[in-house]
Amino acid sequence: MQTVDQFDFSGKKALVRVDFNVPLNDSFDITDDARMMAAVPTILKILKDGGSAILMSHLGRPKGGPNPAFSLNHLVDHLGKITGAHIHFASDCIGEDAISMAQSIKPGEILLLENLRFYDEEKSGDADFAKKLARYGDIYVNDAFGTAHRAHASTSVVASSFGNQKCFGYIMANEIANANKVIAEPAKPFVAIVGGAKVSDKLLILENLMQVADTILIGGGMAYTFVSALGGKIGTSLFEADRVELALELLEKAKAKGVKLMLPADSVCADGFTNDGGLLTCSSDSIKDGWMGLDIGPKAVEAYVSEILNAKTVLWNGPMGVFEFSNFENGTKSVAHAVADATSKGAFTLIGGGDSAAAIKQFGLKDDVSYVSTGGGALLEYFEGKELPGVAAINAVVK
Ligand code: AMP
Repeated sequence: MQTVDQFDFSGKKALVRVDFNVPLNDSFDITDDARMMAAVPTILKILKDGGSAILMSHLGRPKGGPNPAFSLNHLVDHLGKITGAHIHFASDCIGEDAISMAQSIKPGEILLLENLRFYDEEKSGDADFAKKLARYGDIYVNDAFGTAHRAHASTSVVASSFGNQKCFGYIMANEIANANKVIAEPAKPFVAIVGGAKVSDKLLILENLMQVADTILIGGGMAYTFVSALGGKIGTSLFEADRVELALELLEKAKAKGVKLMLPADSVCADGFTNDGGLLTCSSDSIKDGWMGLDIGPKAVEAYVSEILNAKTVLWNGPMGVFEFSNFENGTKSVAHAVADATSKGAFTLIGGGDSAAAIKQFGLKDDVSYVSTGGGALLEYFEGKELPGVAAINAVVK
């Protein structure tokens, strides 16, 4: 894997795709700078070598051209603080001003380009637009894992203008290395925990995990389509009628492959989608009419925790229940603690996907697991076995 560590940036201009898609409040203050902070090591490596960094990113979802509400200008002061560098800002990501600013930038300085998505050409992966971006730098660095599954101009197309003068930044390199520890060479037993609302979102990942995992623990709303497919009564729990056949096929495949695919034995149910109504714990396949399973029950928790504590590799994607409601957080919380305990016993544990990452933070355990991925969609696609355009563009060797 070619990373920034294989390059000496002295006297060079690095064109770096970062993910500075940070949340802003109504006064345009940054409310969570985690994505910016994560990119600092890559930026500082370039600057400390004696190079300069030309940073490009998207911010939000602007429609129809420039819009001050989505300007990267709002990030300039903070970027200066966290890097200690002098920041120049180009108020148009392409054009004469940006070219002359990129030409006159000095070693140790940063040029931040305006929001790439002010141009539709960014998302459409336009080759001319990518060529215009490529003019600014000698070396292309991709450190935006969150958009690695998109074939956009700045995330993949631009790479072809740099020959082999291209590499991953530290975030990308870390994300890929950690994902590979799970998918390519997992220490066994490998337990995958898959939850969340819908089966349809997780079918491909389940199929792919079947090739490598020893045990798959299913939780969340998606469990009930499986329970129903097997003839259980699920009341008004989440159910996808058009996925019943596929659910049955997955159960068959798991059996044929010797993968232990577990469904929650019991559920904590509610008489409405609320934290304030009736509560009932029952077997997941005999939920009363008018009631819905909103969390895995105590028997399921016990069985799942015991599997997790036995594991040497754990992947967790998706909550076990509606953890946002206090009455239905126990399943997700217990799994989170079990994953932390497995980590302290030496297992490699990776948390991927927005909601499980949010859950692990909510329970104060984010520093007690091996790795929390930042790239929800990109990580999912990687685990689904898809090639990520942002990764492929760097890996493609030019002869
Ligand atoms: P996903 O984005 O597919 O990972 O789904 C996460 C969401 O699924 C969370 O907001 C949970 O509240 C929700 N969820 C988890 N379990 C259930 C359930 N049993 N019924 C309804 N929603 C659920």
